[in-house]
Amino acid sequence: MGDAGTPGTTGPVGAEPKLQPPLTDDQLLKDGYVSQIPWVDKPADCVVVCCSDHRFEKQNEDFVRALGFTSPHFVQVPSGIAVFHGLVAAAGFLPKAMGLLLDKAQDVTTAKTIIGLGHSDCGSYKLGSVKIVAEVARRLVGKDVREIQIEHLEQAGRAIALRLGGSAKVRVFYSDVVDTRDGSRVKYIPVDLGRHSRG
Ligand SMILES: [Zn+2]
Repeated sequence: MGDAGTPGTTGPVGAEPKLQPPLTDDQLLKDGYVSQIPWVDKPADCVVVCCSDHRFEKQNEDFVRALGFTSPHFVQVPSGIAVFHGLVAAAGFLPKAMGLLLDKAQDVTTAKTIIGLGHSDCGSYKLGSVKIVAEVARRLVGKDVREIQIEHLEQAGRAIALRLGGSAKVRVFYSDVVDTRDGSRVKYIPVDLGRHSRG
């Protein structure tokens, strides 16, 4: 069970680059900063809508690459695509705004695949932290947070597929933190959208 409240590992796993002392304002004024990561001018091959939780950021990128995409266009918002559904009950305007945001992302990228990602221990789903979610949870008594999240992902995925009307394929995944011999890792499982996944 990947229930909320599982303590996450806080430190990096050891693959972090060595930290330089932070740039000073004087250095920035004088020279600016040139990132040593090469800039590649390549069209995006998918749009990824995911939670902005920093603890899952690198793993999300790794997973999307494992799916075969090399130039993902990330749209990161708290709770990820679940905002399409999770908050719909009380704030009808929000999913609309998200829909427009998604249209925009698709416009600028012309990507034909939309990937929605959700994750365990999501701040937006911690009971009490967001009134609306607490409200939703209360109406769905008997279900745990994980079930509610997966249900929201599923419904959000279907809503996006309907909105896109077949112009893009929608794939949705839920991720859990799992213990492995090498420490905590993030495991992704597909969320079934049925016949809706292709719009
Ligand atoms: Zn989250």
